[in-house]
Amino acid sequence: MSCLLYIVIPCFKEEEMLPETGKRLREKLSGYIKEGRISPESRVLFVDDGSTDGTWDKICTLNRENELFTGIRLSHNRGHQNALLAGLMTAAERADVMISMDADLQDDINAMDEMLNRFFEGYEIVYGVRRRRDKDTFFKRATAEGFYRFMSALGVEIVFNHADYRLMSKRAVEALAEYKEVNLFLRGIVPLLGFKWTTVEYDRGERLAGESKYPLRKMIAFALDGITSFSVKPIRLVLTCGCIVFAVSILMILWTLITKLTGNAESGWSSLMCSIWLIGGLQLLGLGVIGEYIGKTYAETKRRPRYIISDILPDKNRKG
Ligand code: UDP
Ligand code: MG
Repeated sequence: MSCLLYIVIPCFKEEEMLPETGKRLREKLSGYIKEGRISPESRVLFVDDGSTDGTWDKICTLNRENELFTGIRLSHNRGHQNALLAGLMTAAERADVMISMDADLQDDINAMDEMLNRFFEGYEIVYGVRRRRDKDTFFKRATAEGFYRFMSALGVEIVFNHADYRLMSKRAVEALAEYKEVNLFLRGIVPLLGFKWTTVEYDRGERLAGESKYPLRKMIAFALDGITSFSVKPIRLVLTCGCIVFAVSILMILWTLITKLTGNAESGWSSLMCSIWLIGGLQLLGLGVIGEYIGKTYAETKRRPRYIISDILPDKNRKG
């Protein structure tokens, strides 16, 4: 069986990386085509996520040199998750199966061999899972693994140590299109799609060129998005705290009344101050968490488009 494969690659300021990425993927894809595993119409689809450097020029050059390469360009930087979604939705109109990966080739492209084997065995979603992360800095590894554990503890279905290197069938991507949320966290949504799935392990390498486009600030925002888009447990926690504080405050009132009635009303200034601070603090914390969800609801109700494609490169597989 030979299927039409699209490799979807979001790129943000990746001009240094693209020639090498292009070269390696061309070899890989040509190999598959020669073996007859995938259709000769298979492509690498680059998504330029509104880069301000020469990324789009590099994609256009690759497209001119070899029809294996095609691309789309977003009109503005929308972030990795939105760029990936734009790529998957575009590819789903043309392909039978899609593999998403990063432009920096930190994820071993040879893992695609296994992914395709699994697909041919009938799996519709194949997650690439990092076996070792020793090429990542200690900080990145610790925060990432802590995050996966925390998400599981919150009851979110998530594949441990899987980033967005994954194979999805056309049917799975079409199902993904039904999820209309604006706060995109694909690692949380894809397991909700169901379908027959499995994992493939690989070793994560180092970024070959350029620097990470995920600074700490973006990582924290992404983690917060993941947590608040998929779990209402933080709200429950606030509720539990509220109940406990309420119970304690009743005891405090009783105690104050008893002290007053027994005539020992020299009640402590410090305990009063402590309770005011404690309650005030808890209330603020609660408001903060609730505010996070209200913010999300606000964003969802606006129903803004998640991306706008401004250019589409020629590709003879394109329909319509
Ligand atoms: N990326 C993107 N838009 C962004 C930030 C990143 O499309 O706003 C892409 C980037 O080009 C790369 C992938 O997302 O292909 C992962 O980024 P990076 O390798 O910098 O993240 P890290 O591996 O350091 O977590
Ligand atoms: Mg990377």
